Order: sequence, then C-alpha cells, then structure tokens
Amino acid sequence: MSCCKPVQNKGIDYIIRATGANHQVRIFAATTRETVEYARQIHGTSPVATAALGRLLTAGAMMGCMQKGEEDVLTLQIKCSGPIKGLTVTADSKANVKGYVDNPVVMLPPNAQGKLDVGGALDMGVMSVIKDMGLKEPYVGQTHLVSGEIAEDLAYYFATSEQVNSSVALGVLMEKDNTVKQAGGFILQLMPFAEEEVIEQLEKNIGKLPSVTTMLEEGNTPEDMIARILEGLDMEILDKIPTAFECNCSKERVEAAIISIGKDEIQSMIDEGEPIEVNCHFCSSHYIFSVDELKEILEKAAN
Ligand code: ZN
Repeated sequence: MSCCKPVQNKGIDYIIRATGANHQVRIFAATTRETVEYARQIHGTSPVATAALGRLLTAGAMMGCMQKGEEDVLTLQIKCSGPIKGLTVTADSKANVKGYVDNPVVMLPPNAQGKLDVGGALDMGVMSVIKDMGLKEPYVGQTHLVSGEIAEDLAYYFATSEQVNSSVALGVLMEKDNTVKQAGGFILQLMPFAEEEVIEQLEKNIGKLPSVTTMLEEGNTPEDMIARILEGLDMEILDKIPTAFECNCSKERVEAAIISIGKDEIQSMIDEGEPIEVNCHFCSSHYIFSVDELKEILEKAAN
C-alpha cells in the first residue's frame, strides 16, 4: 500500500431507476467504473478479485436504492469454498456502497471463454442478503451459489427468497494494465401481474443483448441499456442516482468499537505499552491509538 490514499473521481458513476411496460417491470441500470477502480486501488485486488468485487459492488449499489427507508442498510455477503474465500458489500439507500474481499490477491487462469474466472474464484458457497431496516432483527435471506458468477446467483436469490422473477447482468472489464476499463450492470424485475406478451418481448430483447461491458464499450449509457432492454415497450425514467464508494468509518466509530470490547481488553492493550493500529476492512483506513488515548478510552469504558 502506498503512502498516499487514492482519490476517487466522484460524480461520474450513476444508477437509473425506471419502469416499463405500463409498470409491469422495474429496472435499474448502473455505470460504476470509478467505484470499482477506487475499490481496486484501496484493496490492491487482482484482476479476478476486482471483477468479483466490482460485480458485487454494482449489484449492491442498485439493491441499496431498492430500499424503502432512508436509513436502511443492505449487506451482500458471500462465504465460499473458492480461493477468494468471501466477499462483503454494504450499501445504503442513497447508493453509497463499500466492500472488500477476503483474499484480494487470488490469481486464476482465464475460464473456458477466456474471461476472468469469477465462478472459479468463488466456487461453491452461500450468499446472504442482510437488510437492516432499523428493526430489532435484520432480515436475512440466504441462498446457495448457483454459478459463482454473481449475477446468476442474485437472480436465483430474487426468485427463491423474494419470489421476484429477475434478470441480472453485471460486468467488469479490465484494461491491459489491470485498471478498470468498464463496470456496470442492470437488474430487471417482473411485477407479479406482468403479461405473457411483455415477458416474451423482454426475453427476446435480453436474448440479443450483448454483455454489459460490451454495451458500455459501445458508448451506451445506463439510459441506453434500459432502452435496449425495453425495446418495443414503453419506458419511464424515474430517477438518476449518483453512486460512489463511500465508507462511513471514523476515529470516533473505531473508538466506540474499542469501548465495546471491554475494560479488561483495553487495560491489557495499555499494559503492552505500545500504540495500537486498527484497520477498516471496507476502506483500508488506518487508525492509530496512542497509549494515552487508550487510557482515555478506558475511562470512558469505565463510566
Ligand atoms: Zn472505512
């Protein structure tokens, strides 16, 4: 990790929320290159880990905006047997998103299609969708991974856990120098009352659609992607939502976490006589607490 924190180009990535076919479908489409590139820089992820994390960040940002409450927080967590071991992404209702992978340096040969082998990096596993709506217990939906390619896994989650038929596409394309060239995706969801002709038209449209990264490479915006998916049907754009990688950690929050581990633990840190360093999993920020600061924290913990 270098001495200087990477800077994210904000105000470029966004999500479009739209409805179509006389409200029989809802659709989210996103462009997330800056978000994924920033994640790559702060976590030092390998290409396949960048692709996996980028797909999950893109899905998380879109699913974050699906939440009804302003304070609602959504977490997508994958625990898997593949060499990446696991991924965690958290998003709020304003499409602020953050995430990390358990093993950021995983390297794999390309898959049979010559693509980054995200399915091989994840292999078998379980995906949990955790929705914290400010209630006592969060809602947790859990499904097993069907391909480890993330988009299919999410479509399977929506169908089995939420009983919503969905089409999910997520893509990350890397430059030759292993920076992120394109990233984005869409989530299309059918309302329960969707008519057969509408479903047929959508299947036809999606069947001839190139990959998300091909569309982005061709210069398509999220609005253009939605227009292609809804070709032959009416569409109404409802919202344009900026999205970015945002971590809400702070020294105060880390201090609160230290207080929660208890007086005995804090006392033993003080007895060590050395400053402690706490790292944020999500954004790799380092927080240093001197022995004097730990003594102040101990006082607070004692009250
Ligand atoms: Zn953080």
